[in-house]
Amino acid sequence: MTSNTINLTGKTALVTGASRGIGRAISEVLMECGADVLGIGTSIKARDGDLTDHAVRCGTAFTPIDADLSDRAQINSLLEGVRRDHVEVDILVNNAGIIRRSPAESHSLEDWDRVLAINLDAVFQLSQAFGKQMIERGDGKIINIASVLSFQGGILVPGYAASKGAIAQLTKALANEWASKGVNVNAVAPGYIATDNTADLQRDADRTASLMARIPVARWGEPREIAWPVAFLASAQASFIHGTVLPVDGGWLAR
Ligand code: NAP
Repeated sequence: MTSNTINLTGKTALVTGASRGIGRAISEVLMECGADVLGIGTSIKARDGDLTDHAVRCGTAFTPIDADLSDRAQINSLLEGVRRDHVEVDILVNNAGIIRRSPAESHSLEDWDRVLAINLDAVFQLSQAFGKQMIERGDGKIINIASVLSFQGGILVPGYAASKGAIAQLTKALANEWASKGVNVNAVAPGYIATDNTADLQRDADRTASLMARIPVARWGEPREIAWPVAFLASAQASFIHGTVLPVDGGWLAR
């Protein structure tokens, strides 16, 4: 019988972008559910204190790993390190992401490349590497962090919208291949969440007012409100969910 709480005891999760915002909240909640967490960020070793303390409180382990996910060679080193340490990743959360705002006609190719490298290419590289191990074990969970811009085009964010649209499709493509092999691949698509990623928007009173007028719940989301749906998708209770892109958006897409 499946447990009536989300219990990830004995599981190891790898969370990208664990140093701040949504990824940090996901790491906290997964540890609260009993998982050990490997947290990836460009500078996470320098500021992992709270997460290590949180792990101690939860009776789990937190391991910070610095890696720049825009660099394929650094991802390879990360993968080699995990293999060398014989770590089996049961849950992969592809959360790290960046956004660059500028009109499409002047959006620089450097910004386009960087957004696509972190938000899409790294997700495929990590999913392929860990997905292969999960298939061998016949068990695993991959949760991608998409966006409401997986469904909509947005304004001034052509690279970001393209990357998040692709994440939704990649989630479905991997689910189609791996569902029968014991691997659940799903995505959570956040709406507007109060993090560094949306700091410019939060400071812009006019944009905030027009956003809030359009969001049925009429407030910013909190990172932990994304983290709990991720924990659910990582749990045994979500065993029949494959290829879903779940909006968690205060009703934004319903409008
Ligand atoms: P955030 O507060 O800006 O945090 C981004 C995280 O990604 C940080 O931990 C950062 O780590 C990591 N990161 C960025 N570049 C990296 C790189 N090159 N290599 C490794 N890690 C890197 O963002 P957030 O709002 O929490 O967003 C998390 C995810 O949710 C993203 O995929 C974002 O697109 C998505 N999302 C957010 C919202 C929102 O409203 N906030 C809405 C929809 C979707 P370091 O600081 O260590 O580099």
